[in-house]
Amino acid sequence: MMDSVLVIGSGVAGLRAALDLAKNGVSVVLIEREPVLGGAMASRLCDSEETFGFAGSVEVPKVAHAAAKKNIEILTLAELAELKGTAGAFTAMIRQRARFVTDACTQCRHCHTVCPQTAPNQFQAGITLRKAVYTPFRGAYPAAYAIDIETCLNDPPNYLPCQRCVEVCDDKAIHFDVPRETVIARQVGAVVLATGFAVEGAGELDAYGYGAHPDIMTYLELEQLIAPTGPSGGFVEKLSNQASPENVLYILHDTGRFAVACAAAQCEKMLEQEIKNVVVLHPSTTREGDAFVAYWHKVTRCNATLVQGAIERVTPIDDDTLRVRYKEASQPLSTTENYDLVVLTTRAQAAPGAVELANVLNVEHNGSGFVKAGQAIGGVNATSQPGIYVAGCASGLKDVPETIAESKSAAVYSMRHVAARGASADGDAPAGHTGVMVDGKWLTDEQIRQRIEAVLLHLMEAP
Ligand code: SF4
Ligand code: SF4
Repeated sequence: MMDSVLVIGSGVAGLRAALDLAKNGVSVVLIEREPVLGGAMASRLCDSEETFGFAGSVEVPKVAHAAAKKNIEILTLAELAELKGTAGAFTAMIRQRARFVTDACTQCRHCHTVCPQTAPNQFQAGITLRKAVYTPFRGAYPAAYAIDIETCLNDPPNYLPCQRCVEVCDDKAIHFDVPRETVIARQVGAVVLATGFAVEGAGELDAYGYGAHPDIMTYLELEQLIAPTGPSGGFVEKLSNQASPENVLYILHDTGRFAVACAAAQCEKMLEQEIKNVVVLHPSTTREGDAFVAYWHKVTRCNATLVQGAIERVTPIDDDTLRVRYKEASQPLSTTENYDLVVLTTRAQAAPGAVELANVLNVEHNGSGFVKAGQAIGGVNATSQPGIYVAGCASGLKDVPETIAESKSAAVYSMRHVAARGASADGDAPAGHTGVMVDGKWLTDEQIRQRIEAVLLHLMEAP
């Protein structure tokens, strides 16, 4: 039996699973396709301690730093290329892209100042620009800058018309003479798939006026304005003139738990800033369990006005005013009103590369990349392949408490396939026990079930 677990993805789900595994003596290989750990929460997507009981932008970097000190090997800019073998004895072939900047980087920012190449910063919903040599946000882990070679002038290979960053780097941390890509092999007993989710691009929102006026924005852009570390210092303002809006229309495209949780957090923040009128236009009154109801009550308690209906058109009528036409469900005719800020939500989808990754792992998915879960032993975490478990939004959208609960149980189930630290010489559990050792004791199936239930009950009480 191997003594390692491969965790794919370093958002809330991946970090939680990795830390739980490490705490129980299991070696972890944690891979992340981005240059820094954290996933959506690290970039403050719908971050609210009051709503989620978890302040992602604060917690994720802290957790990432903690993970780096444990029994966890962290590989950024890395993706799984191939998985060979069976549960208990997998060989993972991991493809890792070059960072071009070593740990000698002291984050002095000199390279950032001189770099002539810019690109939208996807960690800030694209409303700010970053350079080709960059770190996505303050407090990121790893702290070393990275070079996005697609944006850098020095692409393709061996073509070096620019050396500005190299010349100003006193710490000699930048090196272009490295392979663009390396392949690393790791032996692991199990895999935890925790790739999270992505939000659809704003392209489909053109029909609602997105792109026609700066004050028609997505909820990701709004999130950056709400962030204290964002470009407006945490104050919601109109991108057209930096004025505070008075009338905001928040258009909710679905009433799934995740979407409503985001709406609750963002509407509450806007109303705290004394924005007079926040109207939430939503498609239905569908309810999805107790936690959903709690979020929905939060939207109503913070004095947002709820209107059930569907958006028809958003038209800028002058520099300052957006005319909105929508069809209220209870009314026979469409309604037209003026707002000075319109927020559009986009549907969330599986993470980039999720379909390809599911194919590499040979696990069943729903066609768009969300992994089918709950199929065998392993409960909600089981995929169609033994030894491969899924946690968090990789199998569908969830809020943070659900994600954490799933991550903990995925960690427990994956421990069935590894020889934990302190295992007996032949690595076998005593008769009647499973292959899972927690805090130095072998667990029975019943004990595992009880532990998972206790964790789920505790966490699902939130918010
Ligand atoms: S790469 Fe060099 S110049 Fe750039 S931030 Fe790091 S130490 Fe400073
Ligand atoms: S080589 Fe030039 S373009 Fe590339 S990261 Fe350095 S300064 Fe920027």
